Amino acid sequence: MPAQPPTILILPLGRLETLVLRVVAGYIQGILKVPVDIGETVEVPQETYIPDRHQYDAGLLIRFLREFAPSYRCVLGITSVDITLPIFTHVFGEAELGGHAALVSTYRLGKDTHGRRVTDAVFYERVAKVALHEIGHVFSLYHCGDGKCVMRFSAKLDGLDEIPLYFCDRCYFLLRRMIFRNRAGEDT
Ligand SMILES: [Zn+2]
Ligand SMILES: [Zn+2]
Repeated sequence: MPAQPPTILILPLGRLETLVLRVVAGYIQGILKVPVDIGETVEVPQETYIPDRHQYDAGLLIRFLREFAPSYRCVLGITSVDITLPIFTHVFGEAELGGHAALVSTYRLGKDTHGRRVTDAVFYERVAKVALHEIGHVFSLYHCGDGKCVMRFSAKLDGLDEIPLYFCDRCYFLLRRMIFRNRAGEDT
């Protein structure tokens, strides 16, 4: 019997436009060919706030998201608050390598490097790229040296705009294998 692909849960952390959730769900479903659910909005936990930085701790948020994992292979939190990790000024997303939780922040994705608003199309594409990149990490993918791959590391907006919204052949092959191998492991 062929294994059912695992389901990804998109969890809105705090207030977000429903359209951004649907667009990201559509991209994930279209590219990964796995079912995607959109969950009910959950408040951003206040204990993840870092007062002196006015930002939220991405590592603690990942830990929080993991709690929602039991019925899903991967939980992707999407939030509009600014997130960071100790050694960075900010991050666009974060994930548990080979784990269950991934996170995207839309906070810095709606503007260009001069602070001007970008079009909705650019904004949605950026959110989808960060989402797919972080989901790739959840399914054990590392950063990719291929310039034409969403797993290429990009810490800045111009870098993010340069990478495509798809995986290179090698990453896509590994990703699909991990998706189905994980499922098979659960069934035994
Ligand atoms: Zn990465
Ligand atoms: Zn790649």
